[in-house]
Amino acid sequence: MNGYAGRILEVNLTSKGCFKMPLPEGIAKDYIGGRGLAAYFLYKLNPKGVDPFSPGNFVIIASGPLSGVLVPAGGKITFASKSPLTGGYGDSNMGGHLASELKYAGYDVIAIYGKAETPSILVIDDDKVEIRDGSKYWGKGCIDAEKILKDDLGEDFQIAVIGPAGENLVRFACVSHDFGRQAGRTGIGAVLGSKNLKAICVRGSKSIPLHDIDAVIEKGKEMFKTCAENPETAVWQRLGTPGVTGWVNEIGAFPTRNFQTEFFEAHENLTGPVMRERIVKSDKACFGCPMACGKYSHAKKEGKYDVRVEGPEYETIALCGGNCGLDNIEDVAYANYLLDQLGIDTISGGAAIAFAMECFEKGIITREMTYGQELKFGDIDSFKWLAEKIATLGGIGGVLAKGTREAAEIFGGGSEKFAIQIKGLEQSGYGTRNAPAMMLAYMTCDVGAHHNRAWAITWDIQKGRDLLKGKAKRVIYLQHVRPMFDMLGVCRLQWVELGLGLEHYPEILKRVTGFDYTLPDLLKISERVWNLTRAFWKKENPEFGRKDDQPPARFLEEEIPTGPSKGKKMTQEKIDKLLNDYYKQRGWNKNGIPTKRTLRKLGLDFVIEDIYPKKKGK
Ligand code: SF4
Repeated sequence: MNGYAGRILEVNLTSKGCFKMPLPEGIAKDYIGGRGLAAYFLYKLNPKGVDPFSPGNFVIIASGPLSGVLVPAGGKITFASKSPLTGGYGDSNMGGHLASELKYAGYDVIAIYGKAETPSILVIDDDKVEIRDGSKYWGKGCIDAEKILKDDLGEDFQIAVIGPAGENLVRFACVSHDFGRQAGRTGIGAVLGSKNLKAICVRGSKSIPLHDIDAVIEKGKEMFKTCAENPETAVWQRLGTPGVTGWVNEIGAFPTRNFQTEFFEAHENLTGPVMRERIVKSDKACFGCPMACGKYSHAKKEGKYDVRVEGPEYETIALCGGNCGLDNIEDVAYANYLLDQLGIDTISGGAAIAFAMECFEKGIITREMTYGQELKFGDIDSFKWLAEKIATLGGIGGVLAKGTREAAEIFGGGSEKFAIQIKGLEQSGYGTRNAPAMMLAYMTCDVGAHHNRAWAITWDIQKGRDLLKGKAKRVIYLQHVRPMFDMLGVCRLQWVELGLGLEHYPEILKRVTGFDYTLPDLLKISERVWNLTRAFWKKENPEFGRKDDQPPARFLEEEIPTGPSKGKKMTQEKIDKLLNDYYKQRGWNKNGIPTKRTLRKLGLDFVIEDIYPKKKGK
């Protein structure tokens, strides 16, 4: 099959059995790759109601048909599993070089289940697949473990690894790769930890069959040229995603001190140009990327730290910077380093630390509970103490490691109002009391409050922030477009940011695979996957529905006290209007569940009996 390696690798860690199977062409056509294949196989393979930490919970790793091909930024890979943080569908994708290497080794998808008896690593060297002893690497930080694994196996292995947080089942532990790329969200690092799997190491030497190699080269060159000629390219190369920090403050949406406000008075210390000048040493790109948004930084503070780290990127600056009150870029880079080594998602990790700082401020977490340690916004020592306690489950860290939703239930004292999460996933780096489209995007995102499915905040700015009309339509459109890139296995930053129009993608896909997709076809498949992941939630949680699409209570109850959005908050009336419009346009019922008609229309008949079980006796 052109564009694909054509094989699935199934790994049973319990029996140490590794099985190679052909990837069925019909499934590849209907779900394309990456997030599409990951969602499909997770839905099909996971037993209903499985505990996320049980051996039966699969981790699906899937590349896309454009991964590893000569197109701009074909280096994205998706990790999916039932999330231990949310209890629903979880996935996260990362860049780097794992996607391409996996295809060169001859696999599009890895499906991992079972549990190894002792700490292990999975080594894939073309057709040779082994589960090896991994005890030497257990307990090591992500960056250190990857380095040692490369020393032991060879520099040309591409490695995904978990850190101590994953080993200790911190529910927002990430998977790390390429010394600073992460599949950060939804706790898949903890699922690998529950399986005693420290690392996945891949080396490949095969080629990927292409439908028309000359046509692919021609189109690939045109796409690279379009990116190179865009005047914005040089800006993105220089600043990376931290380039938006100033703008997010200007519009009054920057998470500050656990979203107590949405404007950080010290934001000028955290901007892209400041970061470039003070700590950035070099640029870094994922496979085939003309943008190189990654930045290698060196952060040093006399007597405190001296570290090198990839980052921080914008989300880390938002959640570990402003949201924890850290007011200088060196401290944020050090916070980034700590979480990267420990193997903690910097979004949920930053959010959990900010939540704990506010609990301390309000007397909900007391000095007795912290062995005398003070927890203060803006204090890097407090940040470090909390990060290490979370990763090792020490004291209150063991509670925070469950995520802010559950931690708030345990701590009580009204803290559930400022646990800034939806469906259990901590909200990423945009405040939404004055941004209804972005609020809706978070509320309806299929993994919880994650920005990457629909970055709709620019639509709020363009169309008017108080306006509700048309916001649902735009969010739905983005929820189909942006995940399309995750299915193809390419980064989406080349689209808007570097001006690479959507029309390029069906064209290059056709030349790679020979499958004759149009853009509407691709968006329809994206819609299919969106409904499939919604069905996954319902299958796993029979009570799931509208109640799970609600914003954090703080956004309804407290006005923004400072900055350009001062005085703004959400109301339940606005939320209901947004959801009603959204559900109607999606063909979902009033409780937010896809109707049978919608499911049939999308070719998802097989989920109907899971989410509409027949009543007994009928
Ligand atoms: S833009 Fe950034 S995240 Fe996307 S592929 Fe390039 S380096 Fe990776």
